[in-house]
Amino acid sequence: MSRMGLKKGDLVIVKKGKDRGKTGKVLKVLPESRRVIVEKVNFVKEFIRPDRSRNIQGGIMEKEAPLSIANVMVYCSECEQGVRLKRKILEDGSKVRVCHKCGLSLEKLR
Ligand SMILES: [Zn+2]
Repeated sequence: MSRMGLKKGDLVIVKKGKDRGKTGKVLKVLPESRRVIVEKVNFVKEFIRPDRSRNIQGGIMEKEAPLSIANVMVYCSECEQGVRLKRKILEDGSKVRVCHKCGLSLEKLR
């Protein structure tokens, strides 16, 4: 798990780069490279080679490229901005991630 504790499905806001200010859902976390793929963010054009065995036509496709985890923050709908997370242990012992500012649980948003 990354230091920031990002998970698939989290809503994040981009803090740096050409897509700064955009929000999107985390589609995938890549812990080894400390990157995330965020829905509809950091689109790049990709040239696809035709592959008949997989029924791929080929051509130019746009897809999301991974972003550095350092460039995104979890977006809190209550604070309406990117926020730091803190951990909270509930009465039943389960751990949840909450907004550092307002305490909103970020687990329930999904
Ligand atoms: Zn908040």
